[in-house]
Amino acid sequence: MTTVNIISLNKTYPNQPVPVLKDFSLSINDGEMIALLGPSGSGKSTLLKLITGIERPDSGDIQFDGSSILSIDPNKRGAVLMFQQSYLFPFLNVEDNIGFGLKVQGASAETIRGEVKRMLNLIGLPGIERRKSGQLSGGEQQRVALARALVTNPKLLLLDEPLSSLDTSVRMNLQEAIRNIQRELGVTTIFVTHDLGEAMAMSDRMALLLNGEIVALDKPENLFHRPRSLTAAKFMGVSTFLSGDQLTVKNEACSSSEKIFAIRPEHIRIQKEACKNSMLGVVSDCVFRGEYIEYQVDVNDVTVRARMPMPAPMFPHGEQVRVNFPQEHLFEVN
Ligand code: ADP
Repeated sequence: MTTVNIISLNKTYPNQPVPVLKDFSLSINDGEMIALLGPSGSGKSTLLKLITGIERPDSGDIQFDGSSILSIDPNKRGAVLMFQQSYLFPFLNVEDNIGFGLKVQGASAETIRGEVKRMLNLIGLPGIERRKSGQLSGGEQQRVALARALVTNPKLLLLDEPLSSLDTSVRMNLQEAIRNIQRELGVTTIFVTHDLGEAMAMSDRMALLLNGEIVALDKPENLFHRPRSLTAAKFMGVSTFLSGDQLTVKNEACSSSEKIFAIRPEHIRIQKEACKNSMLGVVSDCVFRGEYIEYQVDVNDVTVRARMPMPAPMFPHGEQVRVNFPQEHLFEVN
């Protein structure tokens, strides 16, 4: 059971012109799963390296339950890392892979056997103790890697894009499995990903990271429906911004004095009838996606992207339509 406090971390790699993390602070509650969402190069892995002790910060502190861990040996900090690749030892069977950490700690063979069995039940793969990693599917390997990470009862679980190499159905299964196991054990967790859907499905709170700084931190549902800033809105898949008293569609931020409104793509309506808050546009793309139709409509010089849930009308390329921005779905961003 661990509360994690990351306090004003700064990190610049040697001979690099810009810092990777700038005054980075984040508090994680005991048993909480935080998703760290950011594009490649935003500093996610660096944060994990600072926590595990692979790298050292230039300044700032990392505390577990109020005590700094910076002077503790990396392998004694109680933070375990699980990667995109399972990195199981190919020459060891599943039992020896999972039990490895316990063996290093000097646990008895009987304890190890019992703990491995408990972990295999937890990950939904009972009875595979004798298999080698080459005899496991990608999803099974990741489950075993999770068991290996958790068997020593870590204070903090760090997941670095653990599902990125798996195909969609396996990935969905594992998202659910990891979430359930994390909740059952109550282990404090940081989940690094660049996949918005995955971050929302997995986390209690999401931190949006850009250029080494957290630009928003909130529950997934709050960030999804009402991101407060333009940057956070873009992270969350919003691409239509409107400004002014007379609504005008904008691609980007406008002058700072203007009020900016945003709208989610699934709330924009493409229709024939004119109504309040609607503008004339021309369909430039219309793709049937099964559950929804994805539209691109040119309004003035700006492309508006909309996702109309089915059933919805299909207007072909070149058709003149009205793009409707329902008032109740517009929200202000700054
Ligand atoms: P992310 O995990 O979000 O993709 P990283 O933390 O790996 O981001 O990297 C952030 C930035 O730091 C990148 O610009 C990367 O090139 C740089 N970087 C990472 N590791 C090193 C290193 N050991 N030396 C120099 N620069 C590095």
